[in-house]
Amino acid sequence: MDFEIHYTEEQEKFRKEVSAFIEENAYKEPVEDIDPMRVTPEMWNKGREIQRKLAAKGWFAAGYSKEYGGGGMDREHRAVLAEEFGRIRLEHRWPIGHAGGTEPDRIHTSGLMSFGTEEQKRRFAPKLFSAEWYGFQAFTEPDAGTDEASMKSTAIRDGDVYIVNGTKVFVGHIPPPLRPDYLYWPAVTDPTAPRHQNISAFWIPGDLPGITYTHLDLIAAEGPKWEVICEDVRCSADCLIGEENKGWLVTQATLAAEHGGGGVIVTRGSSLTTRVIDYCKKTLRNGKPISKDPVVQDTLVQLYIEDKVSRLWGVRNFAMAEGQIPRVRYTGTQTALHSRRHAPALGKALMDILGPHCLIDDPELRILMGTVEHQVRLADVNHIGGTCETQQIMMSRGLGLGRGTAAAARR
Ligand SMILES: Cc1cc2nc3c(=O)[nH]c(=O)nc-3n(C[C@H](O)[C@H](O)[C@H](O)COP(=O)(O)OP(=O)(O)OC[C@H]3O[C@@H](n4cnc5c(N)ncnc54)[C@H](O)[C@@H]3O)c2cc1C
Repeated sequence: MDFEIHYTEEQEKFRKEVSAFIEENAYKEPVEDIDPMRVTPEMWNKGREIQRKLAAKGWFAAGYSKEYGGGGMDREHRAVLAEEFGRIRLEHRWPIGHAGGTEPDRIHTSGLMSFGTEEQKRRFAPKLFSAEWYGFQAFTEPDAGTDEASMKSTAIRDGDVYIVNGTKVFVGHIPPPLRPDYLYWPAVTDPTAPRHQNISAFWIPGDLPGITYTHLDLIAAEGPKWEVICEDVRCSADCLIGEENKGWLVTQATLAAEHGGGGVIVTRGSSLTTRVIDYCKKTLRNGKPISKDPVVQDTLVQLYIEDKVSRLWGVRNFAMAEGQIPRVRYTGTQTALHSRRHAPALGKALMDILGPHCLIDDPELRILMGTVEHQVRLADVNHIGGTCETQQIMMSRGLGLGRGTAAAARR
């Protein structure tokens, strides 16, 4: 089956229009610091400004219905957008890279669009689709990561409001001192009900009294991370998404998106792996290109294969989500499992090939503008949205195997 994208004449014309827009709005030179944890408020705000310009053209929430403020565009044109945005991002000239991406985060929209009331979709979606609002997905708690259903946050109804208490950790992306517009926050609404039947999902306005934000200083992440505490926060009852005590369904829709269920169109041109291959061809070690070493060649070929597998699965899942080919239940987690396993392998391979030079972040000496150092640091941070073990369990369920069968197969 050919998953590759081939442009028609009309799509090529559209591509040129998108490319011209990007050139007008991108930084002229690559941005020095590629580590998303070190994004500044200025960089963040510049990215948001461009997202809003994209939204005005219908290119931000391109795939969402116009009824809710989306662009109503077909998948072929969205593929053009994704490829062009991906290309400029790899050149490190795209400010949006620092501000949460080139489309509203599906982790937020999937729960809202699947389970929100019509009134809620009309109230919240246009704010997301115009890039006016930005929020935190606030799921993980100090004692509830993998086992999300054991959360201790509570939201107890009191007339027209819910009183929210609890702590979430490792959440968000915004650089301090900026704050999110809302918190997507599941909490226990019926402490007497069984697990999974006691949770509800809320969109809590981010500036309500009783909310405190503490910036977390981590080794690596995909953006600045936060601890958020709610103490007797009075949240309007009309911010409950879906039915009361049915929040587990909303959470599942959200996690399915986070595990790659929607797929992704990745640029065909250049990835970190292809850039490392190019670097190894051009850089001499002991008078010879690094790529001439047969052990290095072996490692690079393996990385190249894994890179292409990731890309193909992303495109395949996108095609499935669009109904182009039938959906299969395990494919999202299959992609997530592969990328979570590949991340540490890539970090180790970079260390093996390039040695301690990988660890240098000095602007004069670092490799590929610090991308390699950042990747090595990020290598073991592969538990975002669920660890390898979690993905493995979910994939085995998708395949119709039990949890026990998967564990036995690993032994
Ligand atoms: C960079 C980064 C960004 C993040 N961003 C967000 C965010 O925006 N929003 C958010 O809500 N959360 C976020 N998280 C949190 C993330 O979702 C959790 O770290 C993740 O779910 C794992 O939970 P935990 O860290 O509590 O690990 P634990 O759940 O304590 O797991 C510890 C280990 O035990 C294993 N384990 C646990 N249960 C089982 C089981 N049943 N079977 C087999 N093995 C098991 C795990 O696989 C893991 O190896 C982020 C995390 C990171 C690192």
